[in-house]
Amino acid sequence: MDIESGELVSCERVHTLIIGSGAAGLNAAVQLKRSGIHDLLIVTEGLEMGTSINTGSDKQTYYKLSLCGDQADSPYAMAKTYVHGGSVQGDLALAEAAGSTRAFMHLVELGVPFPHDRFGQYVGYKTDHDPLQRATSIGPFTSREMCRRLISRVAEMGVPVREGRVAVRLLTTEAPSGKRCCGALAVNQEGALEAFAAENVVLAVGGPGGLYAASAYPRVHTGAIGLALLIGARARNLPDSQFGIASLAHPWVVSGSYMQVVPRIVSTDRQGRDVREFLLPYWDSPAALYTQTFLKGYQWPCDATRVIGESSFIDVLVHRETAMRERRVWLDYTENGEGFSLDLLADEARLYLQQSGANGARPIDRLRQINPAAISQYAEHGIDLATEWLEVAVCAQHNNGGLAGDVWWESENIGHLFPIGEVNGSHGVHRPGGAALNAGQVAGYRVAGRIAHQYAGWTLDERLAESAAHTAAREAEAWLRRGAKAQQTWQETRLELRRRMTRFGAHVRSQAQMAEAVAQAWAQYQRLEAEGCAHVGTNEVAEALRNRQLCFAHAVYLEAILASLDTGVGSRGSALVLDGAGRPLHALLGEAWRLAPEDVCFRERVLVTQADGPGQVHSEWHNARPLPETELWFETIWPQFESGQVFA
Ligand SMILES: Cc1cc2nc3c(=O)[nH]c(=O)nc-3n(C[C@H](O)[C@H](O)[C@H](O)COP(=O)(O)OP(=O)(O)OC[C@H]3O[C@@H](n4cnc5c(N)ncnc54)[C@H](O)[C@@H]3O)c2cc1C
Repeated sequence: MDIESGELVSCERVHTLIIGSGAAGLNAAVQLKRSGIHDLLIVTEGLEMGTSINTGSDKQTYYKLSLCGDQADSPYAMAKTYVHGGSVQGDLALAEAAGSTRAFMHLVELGVPFPHDRFGQYVGYKTDHDPLQRATSIGPFTSREMCRRLISRVAEMGVPVREGRVAVRLLTTEAPSGKRCCGALAVNQEGALEAFAAENVVLAVGGPGGLYAASAYPRVHTGAIGLALLIGARARNLPDSQFGIASLAHPWVVSGSYMQVVPRIVSTDRQGRDVREFLLPYWDSPAALYTQTFLKGYQWPCDATRVIGESSFIDVLVHRETAMRERRVWLDYTENGEGFSLDLLADEARLYLQQSGANGARPIDRLRQINPAAISQYAEHGIDLATEWLEVAVCAQHNNGGLAGDVWWESENIGHLFPIGEVNGSHGVHRPGGAALNAGQVAGYRVAGRIAHQYAGWTLDERLAESAAHTAAREAEAWLRRGAKAQQTWQETRLELRRRMTRFGAHVRSQAQMAEAVAQAWAQYQRLEAEGCAHVGTNEVAEALRNRQLCFAHAVYLEAILASLDTGVGSRGSALVLDGAGRPLHALLGEAWRLAPEDVCFRERVLVTQADGPGQVHSEWHNARPLPETELWFETIWPQFESGQVFA
């Protein structure tokens, strides 16, 4: 149904709207269609946009139940691994574990070439925070291949995809049971507004990559969690993110062999002058530094338990150079650092390199010996590691937290809104590598099950939804008009908030500075709302409007971090909290660099955050939901399944 309007191109009605076409959104579409929800629409920036189809790593990992050999595994055992990460909801952990085989086998059936042996056993390896060998991979681009196969399936099934759209507002109405989501307002490629009124909205917009100046997310990905935060959707564990060293010219994580070959690490001024091997003074000997550089290869991301004298101290010093001293940091593969010798490395590093035949004279020689594809990866992006230095920084890579959903991935407080994929905060302090991709796939089944069995009909008052769409459109138009006179461009606005997040909300955090950062964040948001931001031409309309949710989101993230620091959670995951009463990091760093210890009692709790408006953010710790006790008696479950009771 189309409705003509002064401001809107159209207001289209669809039963279930999926915003975003990453690995999570695509599988949700497939599973909804299979479950009998045919009135579906995917609205997305583009099928080639987002993190899943544009990112990868040395060996991009997918985590699943162990399916080979005599290794005993079970959904419960896997769920316990998830819960062990800390601050994890037990019911979500069990659902992700229970759904993992189905989701994995679906990808196998779609043609994702996960390796198996001649007997058909899907082999696995041990990833970080993994007690078994549940991880698998198809190489550097696992999630890209998943997307390609899912895109084909979506096309075969005839699910319509509307590309070139940026959602800029979620629409809500008040229902007797509370606030519910009823659609979205988007901007199309002509810079015109379009509205979608929907019974259900699946929000699959990915992680908050666009919030950081230093980001390992692909450049094309900004994320849109702010849309949900703006309507008051509850969030969970927002401060828990992964940060680690990544290259800037081509966003790529420099883990694995990139560090194991021990490149020379230098910093320069902004112009590339004043070259310093800035790490050396902080270690007892060059051998200690180079051994830790090697270990950084598989001790990625930054880890609060490995800071003092260990590999994550490198993340601290790199951050200090780039974010605090405004210098630039580079990996140099063309020569060894001062005092480097393979013979000086600790046994673990030296034996690994020797056994891998990586005994070349220079880092580039060793990289060629150990992993030539790592060199080609950069060559494909015009960077020749044999002759050029690689600029790096400590970058945001993944948000373990996100929006708070129930066991059906429905928002805990906004009805009919289903945040899935990285925008859903189902992880906690740590997660096994690959668990993000599993969570995104399992979510598709959960959402489809719930919608097909509980929300398949129409309960939406369409006039209210249309009215919400028109109000939002008028408000957006007025804001854009204000922006015509704005001093600051949309690019400057975004850079300001990104720099603030990388400076204060990344892996090095300080309670003393956080309150000021929060105040500055809200001041920027108020200014942006009052004055808009300048934009040129129709294709910048979406970018200007996008800044509103990004700016709101960065303020909410900083508020959540401040709340976590105020409650004394301390250093955990990738977050290093500086505190005058903490342990000194290094004698040369001075009093400001003391590390607050983790208060582990918070691992039993989740941080719940909700924004009721600008500057009105409430965060509190709730006890994590325990792993459910389940009674698995076939004769009892069968009728519950047959009647649809299990979906209630
Ligand atoms: C460098 C790197 C390495 C990683 N390695 C691993 C790994 O080995 N294992 C693992 O499990 N995870 C890994 N991750 C994390 C994982 O890749 C992501 O969590 C996952 O791909 C996110 O999938 P998604 O579908 O939720 O979001 P995305 O793939 O980001 O998709 C989001 C979609 O939403 C669209 N969108 C966003 N905003 C809007 C809007 N306003 N309007 C319309 N559309 C919008 C985007 O265009 C895109 O289509 C890695 C991440 C990075 C950055």
